[in-house]
Amino acid sequence: MKINIDSVTHTYDVDVLEDVSLTLEGYQCVALIGVSGSGKSTLIRLLAGLEKPSSGTITIDEQDVLSEEYKRKIGFVFQKHNLFPHLTLKKNISLILEKTRNFSKKEASEKADYYLEIMHLKEQANKLPKNVSGGEAQRASLARALSIEPQIIFLDEPTSSLDPVLTHEVLTAVEDLRDSGKNFIFITHVISFVKDFADYVIYMEKGKIVEHGSPDILENPKTESLKEFMGKVR
Ligand code: ADP
Ligand code: MG
Repeated sequence: MKINIDSVTHTYDVDVLEDVSLTLEGYQCVALIGVSGSGKSTLIRLLAGLEKPSSGTITIDEQDVLSEEYKRKIGFVFQKHNLFPHLTLKKNISLILEKTRNFSKKEASEKADYYLEIMHLKEQANKLPKNVSGGEAQRASLARALSIEPQIIFLDEPTSSLDPVLTHEVLTAVEDLRDSGKNFIFITHVISFVKDFADYVIYMEKGKIVEHGSPDILENPKTESLKEFMGKVR
């Protein structure tokens, strides 16, 4: 995909992103890393068009991320699953397809089955989110994001509330999707996953992009800041 971030500043009470600019082309899996509070979630929300930057513009594949057309092409998986608690995993998917994509009940049901199966959730399809494990709920969130057949999938620390075994389960499921040609922009604190999965890495500190490049930058950081970060996460 092609990402163009042009002089983006974002302010809540203080500047959370300060004059961020970046142009990337030809990468499929872009990772955002950095300590907590560095602005990763803010930047990923802006890239997904979920929020409007205080100033500056972002286009992905030549499309303004705030356009309605773009919104239909992306899926987002958050830190904690945001499945509807009163709906089964399957209904969580099929209802979205009926409401937002005008699928018939039958089509929506078939699509939901298909993506639940891809995420190995066939047995859990008719359970409520509270009756499945955290890993299964996150995989259902992924299935839901996938079901709208997005071109880009955004992941904001999808495993941060999971233990190592469930983390592995979810990340393996994500890895399996790479070959399907989807683009990913993701945040994770699992550095081994970044090394395996990302083809581009963006390191942030205090609302700025401090270093970016191929995953090699994790082995050979140029800045003291990334060196120090890698020292802590290893
Ligand atoms: P990260 O994902 O790297 O931990 P965030 O983008 O969540 O960083 O946060 C960056 C900074 O912006 C933090 O200081 C955080 O407290 C602040 N922040 C994030 N979201 C909001 C918000 N909705 N309102 C006010 N401050 C926020
Ligand atoms: Mg965050």
